[in-house]
Amino acid sequence: SVIGHGNEKVINAIKNQVGKLIACHSSLYNDTRAELIKKIVSITPKGLDSLFFTNSGAESVETAIKLARKYTGRKEIIAMMRSYHGKTFGALSVTWNSKYRSPFLPLVPGVKFVPFGRSDKVRKVITEDTAAIIVEPIQGEGGIFVSPDGYLKELKEISDEKNIPLIFDEVQTGFGRTGKLFACEHWNIAPNILCLAKAAGGGFPLGLTIAEKHIMSSLGIGEHSSTFGGNPVTCAAASASLDVILGEKLWEKAEVSGNYFKGRLTKLADKCKIIREVRGLGLMIGAELKFDVKDIITGMLEKGVIVLSCGTHVLRFLPPCIITTEQIDEIVDKLEFCLVEKEQEKYAVNE
Ligand SMILES: *Cc1c(COP(=O)(O)O)cnc(C)c1O
Repeated sequence: SVIGHGNEKVINAIKNQVGKLIACHSSLYNDTRAELIKKIVSITPKGLDSLFFTNSGAESVETAIKLARKYTGRKEIIAMMRSYHGKTFGALSVTWNSKYRSPFLPLVPGVKFVPFGRSDKVRKVITEDTAAIIVEPIQGEGGIFVSPDGYLKELKEISDEKNIPLIFDEVQTGFGRTGKLFACEHWNIAPNILCLAKAAGGGFPLGLTIAEKHIMSSLGIGEHSSTFGGNPVTCAAASASLDVILGEKLWEKAEVSGNYFKGRLTKLADKCKIIREVRGLGLMIGAELKFDVKDIITGMLEKGVIVLSCGTHVLRFLPPCIITTEQIDEIVDKLEFCLVEKEQEKYAVNE
């Protein structure tokens, strides 16, 4: 999460809502939900004003795909190599990694993968039947790869020109993590459909598919629904969490702390040659090593630091935006210890 564990405001909002109303189907009006909708629409990129509530990132991607197909009446989706969009059938179908895909073939047909960062390749595979282009502005699970400058703008131009909805999956990048409220703001490009989840619910399960009104309205009544999507307790948690993010301008903290964190890791890379590259934006940082990161992750866990991997060679840091400089120092010091240990171990084996 971006706000960290145990935030009093979120805890109290949840407690309060549990005492009032726990469940309320999205076909019925609910004031807690209405309040959240108003808040979210006030911060999303211009034109994105119709919301659909789900319970996870994968579901928000499912919704986006169904929506794009319904709106266009077409069937093919263009997705990116190294993409990650979740593990339900539709979301998995636009996910690149064969480790996740191959046990579950056949998936939804009509998906074409092109290299991330290459809009010319997107142009090449467009047909009369292309329903959507889906992309993460910063690829997370795939290894922390930031969109090259100009890329999202080119995708937007293609999307406008051919009337193909552009879907941004900001499930991981949304709500401040990258130094902007939404990562697409780094390039000033708004998609036609935006997928959010992870940090959205302040720790509670919440996914959001936000689309332009004319696109969302292509879904008829009952054509897509979710019983627990947008339930009042989740909405209360999300609303309080959003208040914290906006009140404390957490994206600004993510930018400042992210630069500090990246700076320290880059300096460490000068010392430890086993770090190949440090990359990312805000507090979404990857450090690519020259070998498998498994031992480092275990070593860090033993020292009390949870580091993720993405792929076999990349360490992924996604701390809450409230992280302090002292905590970043502690993490980098512990990482240095683990890396040096590993380097010596390798050296000893070579001798
Ligand atoms: C995590 C993630 C998903 C899937 O979200 P779940 O809530 O785990 O289903 C989809 N897209 C991106 C970019 C993600 O990082």
